[in-house]
Amino acid sequence: MAGRIRDEDIALVRERTSIEEVISDTVTLKSAGAGNLKGLCPFHDEKSPSFNVSPARNVWYCFGCGAGGDAIKFLMDAEHLSFVEAVERLAARAGLQLRYVEDDRATPRASRPQQGQRQRLVAAHAAAVEFYTAQLTTAGARTAREFLAQRGFDRAAAERYGCGFAPEGWDPLTKHLRQRGFSHDELVTAGLSRPARSGSLIDRFRRRLLWPIRDLTGDVIGFGARKLFDDDDGPKYLNTPETPIYKKSHVLYGIDQAKREIAKQGRVVVVEGYTDVMACHLAGVPTAVATCGTAFGADHIGVLRRLLLDTDAVAGEIIFTFDGDAAGQKAALRAFEDDQRFVGRTFIAVSPDNMDPCDLRLAKGDLAVRDLVARREPLVDFALRHVISRFDLDTVDGRVEAMRRAAPLVAKLKDQEKRPEYVRKLAGDLGMEIEPVQRAVLAAASGRPADGGPARSARSEPAVDSPQSMVEREALKLALQEPVLAGPMFDAVEATDYRHPVHVVVRAAIAEAGGVAAATGGAVWIEAVRDACADLAAQALVGELAVEPLRIDGEPDPRYVSVTMARLQWGSVTARIRDLKSRIQRINPVNNKDEYFATFGELLSLEQHARALREQAAGGL
Ligand SMILES: [Zn+2]
Repeated sequence: MAGRIRDEDIALVRERTSIEEVISDTVTLKSAGAGNLKGLCPFHDEKSPSFNVSPARNVWYCFGCGAGGDAIKFLMDAEHLSFVEAVERLAARAGLQLRYVEDDRATPRASRPQQGQRQRLVAAHAAAVEFYTAQLTTAGARTAREFLAQRGFDRAAAERYGCGFAPEGWDPLTKHLRQRGFSHDELVTAGLSRPARSGSLIDRFRRRLLWPIRDLTGDVIGFGARKLFDDDDGPKYLNTPETPIYKKSHVLYGIDQAKREIAKQGRVVVVEGYTDVMACHLAGVPTAVATCGTAFGADHIGVLRRLLLDTDAVAGEIIFTFDGDAAGQKAALRAFEDDQRFVGRTFIAVSPDNMDPCDLRLAKGDLAVRDLVARREPLVDFALRHVISRFDLDTVDGRVEAMRRAAPLVAKLKDQEKRPEYVRKLAGDLGMEIEPVQRAVLAAASGRPADGGPARSARSEPAVDSPQSMVEREALKLALQEPVLAGPMFDAVEATDYRHPVHVVVRAAIAEAGGVAAATGGAVWIEAVRDACADLAAQALVGELAVEPLRIDGEPDPRYVSVTMARLQWGSVTARIRDLKSRIQRINPVNNKDEYFATFGELLSLEQHARALREQAAGGL
């Protein structure tokens, strides 16, 4: 490649670029204090944000995977750009004109090939959008305009989404773009043209209604094309093929318009087609996106999780709208298989008349579309209903078989606190006692067949009067009786550190009720926690704990809270240490050196943590 960008121009690009703005295009950032920002790392899979951005120092760094650098490096890594392409992209953004140093071999007309490939392909698409939208107003595009009008989209809507028309003829777009200076290779690489058998170049899309597909930053990277005429023997929808800039596993139609609302509302609505995205946005559901010619998959989840800042602390909601048909149901169940971490936050919205959002808006108006989204159902409920519906529950065999098929779904719930709730629900739906259903779920969780004798929980329950249970009880009492005192210290200790199942449920209910730090106490607070309890046993326990005296003489103080929470965590940390030690004994250090040392390292750091907790726990004794 001839020529390179002048160093002083690169420096200027760095200086004029807001790293925060560049990264915010793809990663939702929240304040991390001291002027720094953090979000979910786009370069490794994580649940809590370790990706840090320092706008003051113009750098980013991930504590999780060690990646880091400046804005240029971020674009190179996140968008797979070359250095030159990344600098060109930032320069365009900052409105800077770059100057190039010519190589010896460079020809005077070298300015064009110097530009990065991505920029050329994006420019070709921008020119194509201009061409196609102009075509939509011509006489030949009447059917395309009628198609839009019949679906409730006026001219303003067509313009907002850049709808266009690919005209009759073999190569009108190709000719137009060739005149604009795009090369044969560029048009083929962009997926806009393809070689005919004769060897000459022809348009990919002909006599179709087009939607430009944009990336997160708003650049057009491809098209979706709908068939309009009966004598068009192609598929109903045709999309841009895989190109260096168009990866269908990542692409979400409408994401450029929806991303700010998705981040703001912490919610995204996944619909099935271009017209559904338009209908949703126009009906007041601005968070709608659609996949383009492919099923919703893990890469799409990755894109959305980073926008939703989907962590344990901030839970984003994904709502799928499906036609009630078999394909939609299958897609929903696949989503269940895909990413267990997402299951608890995934919802299904099925229109009662099996209409998609576009039809629904036409038939019943904007409000009906908003209502469809509001009436969403948790994915787990949907999946259970779907599985159970295949069996005849009037027979014993039918009920038992339905239980066997449904139990693994409940067992799979990452959110273990939700299991008792779903065991009860499943038992109710099947018309069975709770115990056999619980056994089936436990068996499914441990990978044993349900009939293999009485199944035991993988994690043994501590006795109610064990020291660990007593300290858990004390912590919950503090949270219920002295929320202002317990505050963030209580909230900082996660439900996973509680070992007794009913305590786990109460701890979850406290979080559900908004957390202790936000509570002001009194009867309202106790009621809120009680209402949030997932089962009756937990509700009863809340009543008990709200009045049971604390195990301290005199008034509790912050030190007492600190000691209690440290003792509680110490119990769970020492249990994890026991598990790790037993695992180390089972690892052969010769064959599995890496695993051995990794586990050993984990053990050492846990032991260190345990020592610190023991000191904290001793603080008040
Ligand atoms: Zn990372």
